[in-house]
Amino acid sequence: MSPSTPSPATDSFDAIIIGSGPGGATVARELARGGMRVLVLEQGSAAPIRGTLGQMARMAAVPGKGAFVHRDASLLVQGITTGGSSMVNFATAMPPPLAMFAAHGIDLAPALQSLRNELPMAPLPDNLVGPMATRIMAGAHSLGLPWHKLDKMIRPQICRSGCWRCVYGCPFGAKWTARDFLDEAVGHGALVRDGAKVLRVLVQDGRATGVEFVRNGITATAMAPLVVLAGGGIGSPKLLEASGLQRGPSAFFSDPVVAVMGSVADLVGGAEVPMAAGMHLEADGIILSDLTLPAPMYQAFATQVGRVDRLFAHHKTLCVMVKIRDAIGGRVGAHWVDKTLQPADRAKFKQGIALARKVLAASDATHVFKSWHFAAHPGGSVRIGEGVDSDLQTATAGLFVCDASVIPEPWGLPPTLTVLCLGKRLGEYLLANSLAWAR
Ligand SMILES: Cc1cc2nc3c(=O)[nH]c(=O)nc-3n(C[C@H](O)[C@H](O)[C@H](O)COP(=O)(O)OP(=O)(O)OC[C@H]3O[C@@H](n4cnc5c(N)ncnc54)[C@H](O)[C@@H]3O)c2cc1C
Repeated sequence: MSPSTPSPATDSFDAIIIGSGPGGATVARELARGGMRVLVLEQGSAAPIRGTLGQMARMAAVPGKGAFVHRDASLLVQGITTGGSSMVNFATAMPPPLAMFAAHGIDLAPALQSLRNELPMAPLPDNLVGPMATRIMAGAHSLGLPWHKLDKMIRPQICRSGCWRCVYGCPFGAKWTARDFLDEAVGHGALVRDGAKVLRVLVQDGRATGVEFVRNGITATAMAPLVVLAGGGIGSPKLLEASGLQRGPSAFFSDPVVAVMGSVADLVGGAEVPMAAGMHLEADGIILSDLTLPAPMYQAFATQVGRVDRLFAHHKTLCVMVKIRDAIGGRVGAHWVDKTLQPADRAKFKQGIALARKVLAASDATHVFKSWHFAAHPGGSVRIGEGVDSDLQTATAGLFVCDASVIPEPWGLPPTLTVLCLGKRLGEYLLANSLAWAR
């Protein structure tokens, strides 16, 4: 397809992208830069980020949209807004496991190098590592643990100390989010429609031809020979099922987390960037890090496990995150999502929580308690090799998936950088093969 001028028509495009998180925004930017007429449909709002609890709750805590409660009372959260979960995430960057993808015929190294060259991605300078993260790191080091500062997708020159707002969506522009790529896509002519929920992918003679979506209560269609599903680990399998392109619910991973918390007498804090430092037990599938969250989130954790005695101790409570690589299981259904822990998951938590308790003890914390588990990384629900091929194409010609759902194996890592690499690679592939999609 030769580069073409954006058309004033809103119903016919070269490519339609469903969802504007890291996966969707990256593909949109690549295709728009290559001259394609791109439509991005996002069910969430594009309202400017204010960094308030209320706005964060509307993005990530509305039951059945941003939040799903499982049978075992654990919570799964995701961001429903332009930029997807990147708006509320903790901005920790970890590179994709290249060998895992190589085993599926995918080389992510060139995309990783290119993204490293352009994105903010480095440990925070010491002045932006909060007192709680510093205290926990010192405790871990006293035990001889390889605790180190983690790469953050944060612009340190704009970030400020004593601030917790990245968790609510940074209103200062310090945190990199997928809206940055989306803005670039728009600069290259892409059309982004927020509040537009895609109902199904349209297919004719085994080829994707467009989508049906609802916006402002009106159902409409948009046509394109290329459709990229980037609805995230929950949204994409749901849409495949709603389109009759997948039978039955999908299993998935969610990288569940337990927060282990304890109070110290000589520190007053509670407002800092979470996950500033930590350690990765790669073979065991466990990540530990500091996890200082805003007071309302801490209080929700304490309340859920009945620790009302700790409700007002937020300012002096150190929090260590234990994240595990869970087995693929559970189900994403048409109207529900459910995943409970397997015996191997429980064993990982037992090991990680014991280590977190040691780190807290070495940090002189007392009154230690742990939260119930919760999760924020749904993925692996349309896996490479099963739901899509190594080009991320489904069994339907012209229909691709590009988000955390294509991750092929149990995970246990911050997924954003991997999803960005997949998006960049797919965008380049689609442009290089654009004649195949020309009508
Ligand atoms: C609290 C929290 C902290 C996190 N911390 C980190 C971290 O530190 N580092 C890291 O790497 N990752 C982190 N993550 C995870 C990371 O943000 C996600 O893995 C990543 O955003 C996934 O990108 P995605 O493109 O797969 O999908 P998403 O970001 O989920 O975006 C999908 C988008 O598609 C839209 N959509 C879905 N269905 C439809 C439909 N039918 N029609 C229209 N639009 C639709 C959704 O509204 C959403 O905006 C965190 C997540 C959360 C919630």
